Amino acid sequence: MSQPLLGLGLKALEAWAQEHGQAAFRGRQLHDWLYAKGARQLAEVSVLPKGFREQLAAQPPEGAFDWMGRSRELHRSVARDGTTKLLLGTHDGLSIETVGIPAEGRLTVCVSSQVGCPMACRFCATGKGGLQRSLAVHEIVDQVLSVREVMEQRPSHVVFMGMGEPLLNIEAVLAAIDCLCTDLGMAQRQITVSTVGVPRTLPRLAELALERLGRAQFTLAVSLHAPDQRLREELIPTAHAYPIEDLLEDCRRYVAITGRRVSFEYILLGGLNDQPRHAAALAQLLRGFQSHVNLIPYNPIAEEEFQRPTPAAVDGFRRALQDRHVAVSVRASRGLDADAACGQLRRRLEGSLEPVLAR
Ligand code: SAH
Repeated sequence: MSQPLLGLGLKALEAWAQEHGQAAFRGRQLHDWLYAKGARQLAEVSVLPKGFREQLAAQPPEGAFDWMGRSRELHRSVARDGTTKLLLGTHDGLSIETVGIPAEGRLTVCVSSQVGCPMACRFCATGKGGLQRSLAVHEIVDQVLSVREVMEQRPSHVVFMGMGEPLLNIEAVLAAIDCLCTDLGMAQRQITVSTVGVPRTLPRLAELALERLGRAQFTLAVSLHAPDQRLREELIPTAHAYPIEDLLEDCRRYVAITGRRVSFEYILLGGLNDQPRHAAALAQLLRGFQSHVNLIPYNPIAEEEFQRPTPAAVDGFRRALQDRHVAVSVRASRGLDADAACGQLRRRLEGSLEPVLAR
């Protein structure tokens, strides 16, 4: 089986070179061109013997356009605040969203872990189209390289908050984190994995992270969005199969295994879950839990009737949590003029992309 090279570490690239009849140092050269130079195609790697490149071009890899495993940029939309949303095309004619978010000395890349998503959260644009497939390691790492290339800046942070549910693609997500840290020099602490919760997977994520990465220092963010099971199920249909108490119990096990505190995301939907009584119930639910709550004002999507919360409601919710000693922050809305809500760009462009996707 022939897989693209992006995502492989130094040792694996050296072994690959040798398997293809080349000296091991060819693997080190490929590593440099893949990660430091960001080459998009094998043809660009001028240090490799021409005959070798031609031989490889005759046997392309599976699951990618080229051995380097890079995507194609289909569309770019840049907001006034510099937030840059890319629509990237995969080898099999699908598309995913990636966002680069610049802020004082930081560049955060919001990456997708799947094409589409099966979780169908009611407020989420990605969920409206269902799942097409999970992404491979090279397709996740490519997103970070693509943002670096387009924004001409080294990403400092990566958040798995784009399309898809990372816990339904754990192996590739962990391998991508490993690659970002080992091959691109990022720190695990600058990486966040966000999940809406898949039954019985959080302890497994913790154990697999320790096994694969040696330590689990990335931040786990859990999309809670409601202080009780009834309201949560209304917003997140899949929560039906995952009682909120079980989810919190799995979070406690995650903390026990990794020693890391968990952060909870809470989308504020005007009039629905943003009232002081919801904040009080949330504080009660999280009592004694080493955690941090991140409030996300809802970004309106075309298909739904939800309202953005008023600034006063956001402020009141934050203060109600603070008064109850819950660590809380409010996520600033970035790039609203660039179809900021996850999955919106792709949905807006659907139908107009076929000519580009058809290569
Ligand atoms: N499936 C994962 C990661 C992708 S969503 C998860 O659910 O956590 C990343 C975050 O964006 C989640 O907290 C999600 O609830 C939030 N989100 C989705 N749609 C949104 C919208 N329209 N407005 C604001 N936040 C949204």
